Amino acid sequence: MNSAQWIAKGDKYIMRTYGRYPLVPVKGEGCYLWDADGKRYLDFLAGVAVNNLGHCHPRVVAALQKQAAELIHCSNYYHIPTQIELAEILCNHSFADRAFFCNSGAEANEAAIKLARKYSREKYGQDRYEIITALASFHGRTMATVSATGQEKVQKFFDPLLHGFLHVPFNDADALEKAVTPNTCAIMLEPIQGEGGVVVPDAEYFRQVRRICDENNLLLIFDEVQVGIGRTGKLFAHEHFGVTPDIMTLAKALAGGAPIGTMLAREDLAASFGPGTHGSTFGGNPLVTAAGVAVMRTILEEGILNHTEEMGEYLMGELEGLKKKFPIITDVRGIGLMIGMELSVPAGDIVKKGLERGVLLNVAQDRVLRFVPPLIVGKKEVDEMIAVLDGILAEM
Ligand code: PMP
Repeated sequence: MNSAQWIAKGDKYIMRTYGRYPLVPVKGEGCYLWDADGKRYLDFLAGVAVNNLGHCHPRVVAALQKQAAELIHCSNYYHIPTQIELAEILCNHSFADRAFFCNSGAEANEAAIKLARKYSREKYGQDRYEIITALASFHGRTMATVSATGQEKVQKFFDPLLHGFLHVPFNDADALEKAVTPNTCAIMLEPIQGEGGVVVPDAEYFRQVRRICDENNLLLIFDEVQVGIGRTGKLFAHEHFGVTPDIMTLAKALAGGAPIGTMLAREDLAASFGPGTHGSTFGGNPLVTAAGVAVMRTILEEGILNHTEEMGEYLMGELEGLKKKFPIITDVRGIGLMIGMELSVPAGDIVKKGLERGVLLNVAQDRVLRFVPPLIVGKKEVDEMIAVLDGILAEM
């Protein structure tokens, strides 16, 4: 079937939960995707920061194929080897002592919310359950994570929301400190807001947030679902800010496209999640954790973080060049290969034109173009994308 035929069939059977661009991807390799008509696209979205090693990275494919032939699923027995290995790698490269595995970013945040409430209640009393998050944040689409999210467009139609979430402006430590009550148990933040439009806070902000947490016995939860796993040139984005959280959530890029989520915590917190407290049938399943081990080893062994930093600087420089040329570009910001370009006009048309010209771009918050290419992107691909973007901007 060709793309038009697939789209017609999809329109008939699939729920319309996303505004979808008319692209039917059937194959991916490295930084490129192909649609059902054989047209090639340069992918600067990477499944929204999922395909950090590019599409179908050979080490991820090999790990999935090997594991699929040996054992695909098993739950309720003693931890499986691939899950243990992935937990060990994550703990050895972070502040955390233990990992809980689930299947998505929203689920990882659900686990963090539940752990923060349970631990804090046990330690400080029944009323300790409030969680402060940021306006414009995004934490997922389940009810608890919709309640945690600081965007009305995500929440409307679904009230009553979960009780006990407060939202304050991002990058404003004073507002955050004022929102703390005797019932607050945790502060949950993205190190860089992704869906909020690639918003990078000041380093001083996170130092203040850590101080507020320490002075009030609050837990600091970092949602690294979008910015973790090398996206910013460090394994975890919070490393740029010199601040350590108590709990961290990961998902998206962790298993190279296989559905995974994880919530990592220090031992004293993790101890609060005993048998029977939380779980998930597929969480940490052999297939996805085998892929996760392959992703982590590839990032750590193949110099991906240095490459990301280098390519991030190159892409940023090229985008700064476009900013000098086109006054509708009002800001270019980001760290590593997590970059946003703010315009004085809506960015949707640029994405549409990019699609026609074989380059996949993305909008976060209407006027911000978000660039989250595979971390393996080279100068050649950056130049190809910039040439197309330059052409589109020149026509506007
Ligand atoms: N947290 C952040 C920061 C995200 O960007 C996202 C997804 N865009 C999520 C959580 C939710 O992840 P998932 O879609 O895997 O549930």
